[in-house]
Amino acid sequence: MRQTLIVANWKMYKTLAEAEEFMERFTGEIAGVSGIETVICAPFISLARLSVLMERTTLLLGAQNMHWQKEGAFTGEISPLMLRDLGIKYVIIGHSERRLHFNESNLLIKRKVASAFNFGLIPILCVGENWEQHSSQETEKVIKEQLFSALEGFTLENEFMTKMVLAYEPVWAIGTGTAARGEEANAVAGFMRSLLQEKWGGISEKVRILYGGSVNADNITEFTGKEDLDGALVGGSSLNVETFAGLLKAVFNERRA
Ligand code: PEP
Repeated sequence: MRQTLIVANWKMYKTLAEAEEFMERFTGEIAGVSGIETVICAPFISLARLSVLMERTTLLLGAQNMHWQKEGAFTGEISPLMLRDLGIKYVIIGHSERRLHFNESNLLIKRKVASAFNFGLIPILCVGENWEQHSSQETEKVIKEQLFSALEGFTLENEFMTKMVLAYEPVWAIGTGTAARGEEANAVAGFMRSLLQEKWGGISEKVRILYGGSVNADNITEFTGKEDLDGALVGGSSLNVETFAGLLKAVFNERRA
């Protein structure tokens, strides 16, 4: 049984004071919600403070990116060792905004995934097609290429292969207000499981797959209620306490119904 996972991606939003204010109110707001693994991927500058504020909660902390090296002369970068040292569990890798705006290649993403595994961080590996690829029915081709290149060479001996999280994030749905349909996202998640099965057999039923792209409190259960999806990666709707808490409550209530 795969546990439901909801991951907030705050992107480049919130000052430290705003992050603190969010956390102070959010924990009270979701007091009645349980059984949903919830991760907050905050900007680097807030991680140290949030790790303290989240100590007595069930919330987990994630980063949105990292360098693949342990340390070195890489001005402006943050290393996996620094993240692990803060007690961070998850790290988003290969988000489409990083692929697009920072030219992150499949090779770079593979290095980061390998590094996350080495440092005991769980990668949330994002894959997804853009609108042009979607319109020309290339979704499966793109997903296969992104997934296999990021995971090339890893074997089942690596315990992190089953712990890793995959996120299907169609680029055309991110931040646009137009989410994929639940059925559509579930079909792609099913295809991703078939790719895992093809290369790594048994892990295909263990790895959690999220959907990401304009998820909100009104449409979240369209995704969490599907066979091959285990939760969501949430950008815009995770920035506001009431909105994000509402989304978690919707999942919680669906579970109880
Ligand atoms: C994201 O940042 O991964 C994302 C899915 O954003 P949004 O929910 O705003 O579409």
